[in-house]
Amino acid sequence: KSMKPYVEMTKEELQELRKQLSMQYKEFQGKDLKLDMSRGKPSTEQLDISMGMMDVLSSNDDLTCDDGTDCRNYGVLDGIKEAKELLADMMEVAPDHIIIYGNSSLNVMYDTVSRSMTHGVMGSTPWCKLDKVKFLCPVPGYDRHFSITEYFGIEMVNVPMTPTGPDMDIVEELVAKDDSIKGIWCVPKYSNPQGISYSDDTVRRFARLKPAAKDFRIYWDNAYTIHHLYDRDQDHLIEILAECKRAGNPDMVYKFASTSKVSFPGSGIAAIAASQNNLVDIMKQLKIQTIGHDKVNQLRHVRYFGDIHGMVEHMRKHADIMRPKFEAVIQILDRELGGLGIGEWTSPKGGYFISFDSLDGCAKSIVARCKKSGLVMTGAGATYPYGKDPRDNNIRIAPSYPPLSDLILAMELFALCVKIVSIDKILAEREA
Ligand code: PMP
Repeated sequence: KSMKPYVEMTKEELQELRKQLSMQYKEFQGKDLKLDMSRGKPSTEQLDISMGMMDVLSSNDDLTCDDGTDCRNYGVLDGIKEAKELLADMMEVAPDHIIIYGNSSLNVMYDTVSRSMTHGVMGSTPWCKLDKVKFLCPVPGYDRHFSITEYFGIEMVNVPMTPTGPDMDIVEELVAKDDSIKGIWCVPKYSNPQGISYSDDTVRRFARLKPAAKDFRIYWDNAYTIHHLYDRDQDHLIEILAECKRAGNPDMVYKFASTSKVSFPGSGIAAIAASQNNLVDIMKQLKIQTIGHDKVNQLRHVRYFGDIHGMVEHMRKHADIMRPKFEAVIQILDRELGGLGIGEWTSPKGGYFISFDSLDGCAKSIVARCKKSGLVMTGAGATYPYGKDPRDNNIRIAPSYPPLSDLILAMELFALCVKIVSIDKILAEREA
């Protein structure tokens, strides 16, 4: 196998290689594959490890919680006490700083933006009455964040990610000079899609932002807070609520999380953590919006996990399934593409994604070529606001869903597509 970078190869060498690769690609097409790496969904095997949750509540059980509330009935708007304690530990905040919601943190984020649009933030002008509202979007990032702000007509401004988090020079400058910037989307730990965790310096700088808009909020989506791959080698974040308080900005952040990738996606519990001032503001909406969320599910989670230690133990089982998949992806990328100069990728220590950067202008073609041979990847461009990747070079790899044997096949096919598209690109550029 040649380890020579493609750009150093002659036209003839590249054309010869292209022929061999085309033959390999035809073989893949003959296999009639149906592989899906498009979304960060847990595998069936991972869902199976939480099946014990179905056994912790039975018709004989007493569904009364610690403070005497009958969980079968209406009551308790912000979550039962024991669920608050469990989620508070998971989110590294005090129980009186959180509200337990329903089954989806994304829903909580949507509600938060929606409320700010119609009613404003802690008494400030509703965003819908302003000429312009903008959000900063570290890129590449999570497509569903961008969909929420796009839906509300909020203008999204790209901020480049660095290995230590968003480029803070740019964030500081923009929020200080532009009062139409009302928020920033952050996935601070094992980010989607790069698996980057923000450095201490980045978190401290976030807490010390001096936004021109007093209703500016950091949307701190800590979706992967306990989703490590390794027992020892784990990323740790400075806790943002406490840091904002220390910095004299206690109200500047909303922190979101859920148990979607701890228990069952779509059937877990979500929560927001924020300052008392923010929580009071949020409760004004919440008490109109619902009589209360699903307390039976809250109780089920508490009875199953017990406490944060039970949850951490449970996450080890997820890690045992995820780790070989992440390692297989990295190994195949290293083996197939290492040294060729046609791509770069991240090696996260947790979360659900690996990010791949191809040569400029190749991502769409690579994803299209994968699809033609039966491998569905996340759409190219999805990691950017409006689906527009200005360099057309980022592809999100989601290793969790396929069984390991499928994943290996999928990554070999992916690497092959990267090679073919890169050669075509290099040759076309030389022609031009
Ligand atoms: N935030 C991030 C960064 C995610 O990757 C995901 C799931 N893919 C979510 C939120 C969705 O979480 P939930 O199921 O709680 O809505």
